Amino acid sequence: MADDDPRRKLLAAVRARARDFARAEVAPHAGAWDRAGALPRALIDCMGALGFLAGPLPTRHGGSGWDNETFVAVYEEIGWACSSTRGFLAVHTGLVSQCLADHGSAEQQRRWLPDLASGARIGCYALTEEGAGSDVGAIATRARRRGDTWVLDGRKTWITNGGIADLALVFARSNEPGGRAELTAFVVELPSPGWRAEPLGVQPLGHRASDHARLVLEGLEVPDSQRLGEVGRGFAIALSALDHGRLGVAAGAVGIGRACLDEAVAHAQSRRQFGQRIGDFQMVQADLAEMYAENEAAGALVARAARAADQASSEVTRLTSAAKLFATEAAQRAADKAVLLLGNRGYGDGHPVERYYRDIQGLRIYEGTNHIHRLIIGRALVGRPPAAAAP
Ligand SMILES: Cc1cc2nc3c(=O)[nH]c(=O)nc-3n(C[C@H](O)[C@H](O)[C@H](O)COP(=O)(O)OP(=O)(O)OC[C@H]3O[C@@H](n4cnc5c(N)ncnc54)[C@H](O)[C@@H]3O)c2cc1C
Repeated sequence: MADDDPRRKLLAAVRARARDFARAEVAPHAGAWDRAGALPRALIDCMGALGFLAGPLPTRHGGSGWDNETFVAVYEEIGWACSSTRGFLAVHTGLVSQCLADHGSAEQQRRWLPDLASGARIGCYALTEEGAGSDVGAIATRARRRGDTWVLDGRKTWITNGGIADLALVFARSNEPGGRAELTAFVVELPSPGWRAEPLGVQPLGHRASDHARLVLEGLEVPDSQRLGEVGRGFAIALSALDHGRLGVAAGAVGIGRACLDEAVAHAQSRRQFGQRIGDFQMVQADLAEMYAENEAAGALVARAARAADQASSEVTRLTSAAKLFATEAAQRAADKAVLLLGNRGYGDGHPVERYYRDIQGLRIYEGTNHIHRLIIGRALVGRPPAAAAP
């Protein structure tokens, strides 16, 4: 595609806007937010004003109408600065808003998408339970129909944005226990009687500025008009949402990998030992070269998966899994190298590489652990039907 192609120009402009935002508004504060354990509400409003929350949503519902290849640049640039902020975006926009855009009725889209696009309402995606992580089919939260209302009972855990959400996408078992769960998706407007968000009760290794909650649903009434998609289609809906969210995770990992490289190069150029810059040692150059090569490869793979999503290619799920698997593992290796190259400086909590090293672990776990992505890719390659895959 030529540089004067309108799509290419839009991508460059959006990337520049996201990069400016990440450098000026996010990176300088990310360490303090990590220590405080929360993101400021003004940051979310700012992402709304810049069109990031609306990114891939249709313009008729207040969206920016960007394609996936454009939107992953936003994830990457914000991921370079702060994984908690990028994680917020991947859940709010990737898992919730895009899922409503894909599966919501016209009325549901009119009702919720403009507020999600602007940030007036915050979304969360509630799939995981204590007994149902990778094995989504083990979901125990029940949805019982009572006339035009559904009554939900159950518990969810590790739900990003769970304590600050105004709108929750909840997956529950709508058949009787016994046999594989038939899942149905619901949109819950919050606050709502029968809904309680509790702190996790643990200090997460990374993503410390994210809001993670345990959710308790007790006799939670949801009108049938807030059912998303058909009864029993919840599993397919959950997985299609994950294709969007996983692209955001993969792109965020590219951002972390680049941030690690930036820090390592800067240090290699300034730190002197044995009378020369440590960057003049070839062993250090080799580490930097590997970080660079892997980061470039990860970025190219994420862009390829994004283009597959834009073309509605049948390969999108396996390519997205490959991008998430490779980009997060490459970023983990980059974080490991960066901590080593920074010496004692990278080992203290005052330096960003220490945060990158902790944050990257989360990207390898959520939206399908990297074991699960190996399964998804492997099954596709040998022609087996997809297994249950995790959030
Ligand atoms: C920071 C963070 C944010 C999160 N946000 C959300 C959220 O917003 N919404 C939400 O619903 N969930 C969220 N989660 C939960 C996350 O999606 C789950 O933790 C994840 O799906 C894995 O489930 P589990 O932790 O129960 O691990 P388990 O499924 O118990 O897996 C344990 C280990 O066994 C391996 N394993 C399991 N099954 C297989 C298999 N078939 N083959 C090979 N290996 C296997 C796994 O890879 C893993 O290494 C979040 C988690 C974290 C850490």
